[in-house]
Amino acid sequence: MLTKIIDKRKVDETSVLIENAKQIAIVTHMSPDGDAVGSALGLYQHLRSCAKNVSVIVPNRFPDFLAWMPGAENVLIYDEMREQTEATLKKCDLLFALDFNTLTRIGDLNGFVKNLSCKKVLIDHHRDPDDFCNVVISYPKIASTSELVFRLIYSMGFFPQMTLPCAECLYAGMMTDTGAFTFNSNDPEIYYIISELLKKGVDKDAIYSKVYNTYSVDRLRLMGYTLGQKMEVLPEYHTAIITLTKAELDKFNYKEGDTEGFVNIPLSIKGIVFSVLVKEGKEMVKLSLRSRGTFPVNKVASTLFNGGGHINASGGESYESIKDTVKKLKEALPHYQKELEESC
Ligand code: 5GP
Ligand code: MN
Repeated sequence: MLTKIIDKRKVDETSVLIENAKQIAIVTHMSPDGDAVGSALGLYQHLRSCAKNVSVIVPNRFPDFLAWMPGAENVLIYDEMREQTEATLKKCDLLFALDFNTLTRIGDLNGFVKNLSCKKVLIDHHRDPDDFCNVVISYPKIASTSELVFRLIYSMGFFPQMTLPCAECLYAGMMTDTGAFTFNSNDPEIYYIISELLKKGVDKDAIYSKVYNTYSVDRLRLMGYTLGQKMEVLPEYHTAIITLTKAELDKFNYKEGDTEGFVNIPLSIKGIVFSVLVKEGKEMVKLSLRSRGTFPVNKVASTLFNGGGHINASGGESYESIKDTVKKLKEALPHYQKELEESC
């Protein structure tokens, strides 16, 4: 049996909202990752099997290694089909906000979604959600939004009817947000849920392969270059910093998702507990921060780079050059020395 995590009142409120809805939209965050796409498509598959009209909307394109998920072909990508997406959103009478806690995480969709008068339900596992939804299902201790969607469907009593496509998407989201169950994944109930998903026919080995064994030659060469030439290790701070400029990314025909996971690699070095990827984008420098142990990278992200996230996985942004961004980061390291030591 699964412990009831989601407040029953919230489950009931969400059930009623779904029952009464004619047109539902599911929105997730910018640069959608496996949990964003998995939770959104898992919920989409569930609602479709309940004969609901439902659309999934993402602010921008998701990486190719997620395109196998059932329903991915129907996802509306806002920055490529604005009119169609806005028309769909205007028609909806219920919106699900998945895997983000603040509207700034949905980029250009922010203003549009904020002004929609329909009912809204948040399902998320990031801390301190903004107040923009009628029902807030926010549980930061849960490892993935996909797990929360599973728990919601289970609590609503729909597990027996769960389809294989739904189970596959939710499994993929749970897998990717825990690095294939290598971090943030000690809760035994995760494995209870997995066993239930396997009973639905999920082929977990095939899903692992579809997500992780799909590198392009360019991506693998970029990884080699990055680790060989662009990873700076600062042993005194137990830190590694990777920088990638736009020119370097272009040289390797960079495509969205090609640097996915790079930031985790330095954490496999003995003594390194803090890793940062600093990547030059079109309009800003994007930072990904990861740690092992107790070092709170979300504190670094929010203090220095207007960002946030989880204790071991966070992100932020900078509007300074890569050089100045790294300078700012390095200057801050001495302030964190004690916490870095303690995390070793
Ligand atoms: P990633 O490094 O994979 O882009 O992001 C890791 C996590 O950090 C995300 O799941 C999200 O919680 C958080 N995150 C990433 N970028 C931002 C950002 O710009 N602002 C905030 N508040 N959180 C972010
Ligand atoms: Mn997530």
